[in-house]
Amino acid sequence: MKQVTLIPGDGIGPEITEAVKAIFSAANVPVSWEEENAGQTTFESIGELIPATLIASLEKNKVALKGPITTPVGKGFKSINVQLRQKFDLYSNVRPAKTTKGIETRFDNVNSVLFRENTEGLYSGLEMFDERLQISDSVARITRVGCQKIIRAAFEYASKHGCKKVTAVHKANILKSAGAMFLGEFNQIAKDYPNIQADDKIIDNMCMQLVAKPEQFDVIVTTNLFGDILSDLCAGLVGGLGVVAGANIGDDMAIFEAVHGSAPDIAGKGIANPTALLRSAIMMLHHLELKEEANRIEAALEATLANQQECTGDLGGKASTMEFAQNIISKL
Ligand code: NAD
Repeated sequence: MKQVTLIPGDGIGPEITEAVKAIFSAANVPVSWEEENAGQTTFESIGELIPATLIASLEKNKVALKGPITTPVGKGFKSINVQLRQKFDLYSNVRPAKTTKGIETRFDNVNSVLFRENTEGLYSGLEMFDERLQISDSVARITRVGCQKIIRAAFEYASKHGCKKVTAVHKANILKSAGAMFLGEFNQIAKDYPNIQADDKIIDNMCMQLVAKPEQFDVIVTTNLFGDILSDLCAGLVGGLGVVAGANIGDDMAIFEAVHGSAPDIAGKGIANPTALLRSAIMMLHHLELKEEANRIEAALEATLANQQECTGDLGGKASTMEFAQNIISKL
């Protein structure tokens, strides 16, 4: 039995977490949950945003599944997600985006995995405000080692999964220092993987290419802000944030998470779609080398998604969160 830290989160987090727990239990997955929350709800109940007990649980278990956490915009506390990623050096944000049968989108042939550097760049927290001059600086610092780690992770994934191509995304035409360092490291590391095609695109062209011909991309690797934006763009190509998985992976810890927010507009109504969290949980099972369980749950999920009537309202169905979960369970 593998013990995993479970962070239900805020808003719809606890509802989609219950659905995933029910599916795991019905599938007899050898995972036990150690539940520790973080975020707004935790702050309101115990006065701590990231309790010490959560940190201890993560340090012990090294693997977690996390629901969405509410973060105030432009004020209040620093994002819990960013804090956890930086504290545990979870430098790879891995975001698969694949077309799903039954989910209507403009394209029917998307299959990419984006590797976003998760701890540096514009998210380094290096922000200054000069009150007198009314000037605001946000420093996008990247390090050579940081570039090497995320680029290596992307090529290793491509190599392990038989992917044909890795595309680096940058702005080296304007960001002469940071862009050149990222691209230079990419071209250097690519030499270690002669069977994988390596190419690069400037971020603005990449956005245009993705919404015109997304099928040309396989593995994509980029810095933090570009990756944040591109990963949601890729999610949009395959049905939106409600259906895509995400993982934050470091050298010895991984946190798998629903990438959508806490959806305060529908929280408590029992209608949230648990697919994103379930797909992240399936990624987690692969990470734990529980392949058979991962494949079985994935097949049941795909069969359910193929029939709109069995899904939640955001996918065109009428099922509640738990009815949707039951529909998956009936196909295990
Ligand atoms: P959101 O993703 O919560 O909601 C956007 C829209 O998508 C809403 O209409 C919502 O109802 C819908 N939606 C989202 N997830 C859904 C699901 N599983 N099923 C059905 N519908 C779903 O984005 P937001 O409103 O911009 O953010 C709300 C809060 O979540 C903010 O505090 C934000 O900081 C936080 N947030 C957290 C994370 C995270 O923890 N990973 C990510 C993004 C936003």
